Amino acid sequence: MAILLDGKELAKKIRENQKEEVINLKKNGVFPKLAVIMVGKNSASEIYVRNKSKVCNEIGIDFNEYLLEEKTTMKELKKLITTLNEKNDINGILLQSPIPSGLNINEAFECISPTKDVDGFHPENIGKLCLGQDTFVSCTPYGIVKILEEYNIQIKGKHVVILGRSNIVGKPLIQCMLNKDATVTVCHSKTTEIEKHTKMADILIVAIGKPNFVTKDMVRQGCTVIDVGINRNQDGKICGDVDFKEIEKVASYITPVPGGVGPMTIAMLMNNVIKSAKNQNKKNLGA
Ligand code: NAP
Repeated sequence: MAILLDGKELAKKIRENQKEEVINLKKNGVFPKLAVIMVGKNSASEIYVRNKSKVCNEIGIDFNEYLLEEKTTMKELKKLITTLNEKNDINGILLQSPIPSGLNINEAFECISPTKDVDGFHPENIGKLCLGQDTFVSCTPYGIVKILEEYNIQIKGKHVVILGRSNIVGKPLIQCMLNKDATVTVCHSKTTEIEKHTKMADILIVAIGKPNFVTKDMVRQGCTVIDVGINRNQDGKICGDVDFKEIEKVASYITPVPGGVGPMTIAMLMNNVIKSAKNQNKKNLGA
């Protein structure tokens, strides 16, 4: 039976350290603050934003929420982002996706100051990640690296197979794994004979958004399986992209859904906000 990679428990431990760190920042006059923008109504986004707000609250990070109407124009969205860029007391800006289809999300991400881009989606920060420079790493890939490291699962020299190449998960994850000296294979919707690749993986990371897509016959005995997917099955229950019940019988390590990558994503967002607050207050902190 596979060992469970318990992201929920690990995130709890990380939050304890973050609480201490925020207390120390406040003693030095630094009050970390995150601004979250949501455009239009989306029930999944509302849950994600509520969770982020709860965690901010728990560790002492101020949280400002900006709710814009569905009919918001690009000009209005960019105006708000520019105002937040200029506010000294805001350390991180997060634009919750998706946004209404009439708006250009890439243009909006580019408008966020790279110094406040705690989601790590700005082209400048993606570029820095590719060059192996210090930057804000996107929270889900960052959380995956952290979970592997905390469980002492070696990445260096291992064959990591990633399913999914989205801008927010798959692509930055490729770079994170390369930066950790893995050999990386990436599969997507046009990949043929996908199981030929998945069976070669020492570490298989699945981020495609298809319930129970990866079955037992697609993985190698002893492989580590990271499930990023968040889906609902036919019974309306949350499930991942891999068939957990069957795969835990052959994998050596596996993340559950829920309770795996999700909580680690939020924990890494908090790390990025704290990092940003420190970067922006080097004088107060005597650095
Ligand atoms: P996305 O933007 O929809 O991208 C999906 C990716 O999967 C695309 O690259 C697509 O290929 C690929 N794909 C789709 N069907 C495939 C198939 N049959 N075989 C191989 N590849 C296939 O999704 P995303 O935003 O990356 O999210 C993926 C999943 O992770 C979703 O369930 C989402 O809810 C979840 N998620 C979880 C967290 C977390 O914190 N746990 C964070 C973000 C996302 P093409 O590029 O060829 O279209």
